[in-house]
Formats: sequence, C-alpha cells, structure tokens
Amino acid sequence: MTTPLHEAHPSSPGRRLPDTQQGMRRRNLARVMHTVNAEGPLSRAAVASRIGLTRAAVSTLVDELIRSGLLEELGPERPGRVGRPGSSLAVSGRGPAGIGAEIGVDHLAVCAVDLRGTVRARVVRHGTNRGRPPQPVLAELTALVAQVVAEAEREGLWPAGLAVAVPGLVARDTRTVVRAPNLDWHEVDLGALLPADLPPTVDNEANFGSLAELWLGDDTPLDFLHVSAEIGIGGAVVVDGRLLRGTRGFAGELGHVPVHPEGPECACGGRGCLEQYAGEEAVLRAAGLTPGENRVEVLAERAAQGDKEVHRALRDAGTALGIALTGAVNLLDPQAVVLGGALAALAPWLLPSLELELARRSAGRACVVSVSRLGPEGPLLGAAHSVVRAVLDDPAAVAGRT
Ligand SMILES: [Zn+2]
Repeated sequence: MTTPLHEAHPSSPGRRLPDTQQGMRRRNLARVMHTVNAEGPLSRAAVASRIGLTRAAVSTLVDELIRSGLLEELGPERPGRVGRPGSSLAVSGRGPAGIGAEIGVDHLAVCAVDLRGTVRARVVRHGTNRGRPPQPVLAELTALVAQVVAEAEREGLWPAGLAVAVPGLVARDTRTVVRAPNLDWHEVDLGALLPADLPPTVDNEANFGSLAELWLGDDTPLDFLHVSAEIGIGGAVVVDGRLLRGTRGFAGELGHVPVHPEGPECACGGRGCLEQYAGEEAVLRAAGLTPGENRVEVLAERAAQGDKEVHRALRDAGTALGIALTGAVNLLDPQAVVLGGALAALAPWLLPSLELELARRSAGRACVVSVSRLGPEGPLLGAAHSVVRAVLDDPAAVAGRT
C-alpha cells in the first residue's frame, strides 16, 4: 500500500483534532479518501478491510464523501467475486479542484487540478512583471484565476482553494511576500490582493516545485534538495517527506549562498551569490548573449549546436552550483539533489562540472544528482496539488460546500 505523504497544507499546519467522535469521523473520512486515492477503484468492502472498520461504518463515510462530490461510484465491480456485487469507488473527477497560480518574473500562469491529479484547465500569460507594482499584476492574475475557475466549473468542478507560487521569500503567514528581489516587491500582503472568495495560500515557487517533485516525480526519495532556476535560483529542502521551512519560512535560499565572497553584487545586498553565476541571466551574460525572453531555449539550442562560449558558461555555472551544493549536501546528507526548472533543460551541460565539484568536495561518497521531468511546470503543479492534498488530508473541511 502506498503511504500518503503528509506535507501539511501551510494554511492548516498539522491541526490536531480532539479525540472526540467528531475528530474520529474526520480522521476516518481522510483514511477512506487516502485509501481510495492510493488503491482505487475499490468496493466498500475492500475499503473496510483495508482500514479495519466495519462495512456499515465505511458505508456511512462513503455516502458522505459521495454526497460531497469527493468520491464517485463507477458501477458494479467486476464479476467473479463472492457475495453480493458492490459498486467500485473512485476519487471523483468532478467535485473539488485545486487552483494553482504562478507569478513568474516573465509570466503568469493558472491551472485547475482535479482530485485525481489531472490538469483540467490551464492558462499562461507571457510578459514581464519586473518592476511592475503588485496591484496590476494581481489584478491580471485574478482575471486569469476567474477564467480557469469558469472553465473548471463548466466541467463540473468547483474550486477548493487557491495556492500562489511567487519568486521570493514568503512569511509563515502564507500571504505576505517579504522580499521578491527580481520583481522588486517588498512586504506585500498578497492575501489582500487575491480573490476574497477563495482561501489563498502563498508560498515560494521553489517550495511548490519541490513538493511537486515529492508528489509527482519518478521515485523521488523522501530526503532531497531541490534546486531550480528562473532568473533567480530556487532551493528547497525536503526532509522525511516534509518541507523544511525554517524559523521565518526562508529555508532553502541556495541562490544567495556565496560562491565567491568578493564576487559581483547581488540584488539581495550580498556579493558573489550563486545566482550571480548560475541564474539564467548570469549564464547568458557569461556566454556573451543578451538576456531576453526564451532564455533557456536560447541557451539549450546553442549548447546543442556546440557553441563553445555557451558550453563554457554552463560549465562554470555547474561548478558554481557544485560549490554551493557541497555545503548543503555536507550539512544535510540528503539522498539526492534534484535539478528542476530551467536547470533540468540545461542539465546535460551543467552536470559534468557540477558532479565533479560535488565529488571533489563531498565528505564520503558524492550525493546522487537527478533531473526533474516536471521542468518549469513544477511550481504551478505543486501549488495546485497542495490544495488537492489538503482536501485528501481533511475531506471534512470541504464536505458540504457543494
Ligand atoms: Zn544574493
């Protein structure tokens, strides 16, 4: 049986319910949802035997979940079973959906994911957000959210919550962007600028990217470092299947680990940060190219054509990543380092120097470095799936909202 991975939704941090009947019902609803999600389609009897409750008790719970649109009956079970045929239960493809949104430096994106994990609606708007004040950006994002919600509703879904990925530091209140240097936003309460009718959660894009890797990646271990790049470098630390958030919520800022203490100035106020060597714009500059849109595509295309300057720039970026990651790997001893975002597309040219540096500097055997297949979609998917996970973890919280 697949054990559900409990990365608590930031807005419901590990709520412990009192051990009352109500709390028991709530936990049992979650156990039924997780069992059907992991192993379905299943009959009521099969669910009962999996979670050790009577069939009557499970039927009551299942009926409630069906009424709330969280489970659906697929019709009679396949023949040949002993006893009265029961109908098979599956997680609903209608009912609640997680709405994920991403504020990128050069784009906005919104998607709706149903409880089965399928993307049912998606919209992307290209155009720079650098230097734009938060209000118009959030107004535009709100319009895109409305568009995706309308599309999802036409398919029989309803939004269970909204999670927004941002390229910056987010406070533990999960709504305040403390600092987003590449947008030039400081102390912005995004919660106040998002649609009032949807419970919003704001988090760092690298955090959502790492959660997507944890939930959707191929054989992702429970302990790993996730490194991704857009203009900035995003880092996240997953320990025992949970995000390490740190005291203020700022853990994982690998992009601002100094690689050369006397190096170029960084938007964070420091010098010689990893971002100045391995961020997309830094790599383009090092290769003698002008930063513009489609930065990754330009780099990957030129690298594939054998452009020597691009090869050198990517090799140096790999070395810088290796130096910064060595510190993190030696400190945390993860099972793997996963390269995501733009780094995934550039991995063939980054990996040799990155792995060499890690091997040279690591205590003991060097950590495995793998490449995410989610690529730049990670943060958006992670955001939407965080809402879906919250529903699976606590279906009682949304039951009755249909
Ligand atoms: Zn910095």
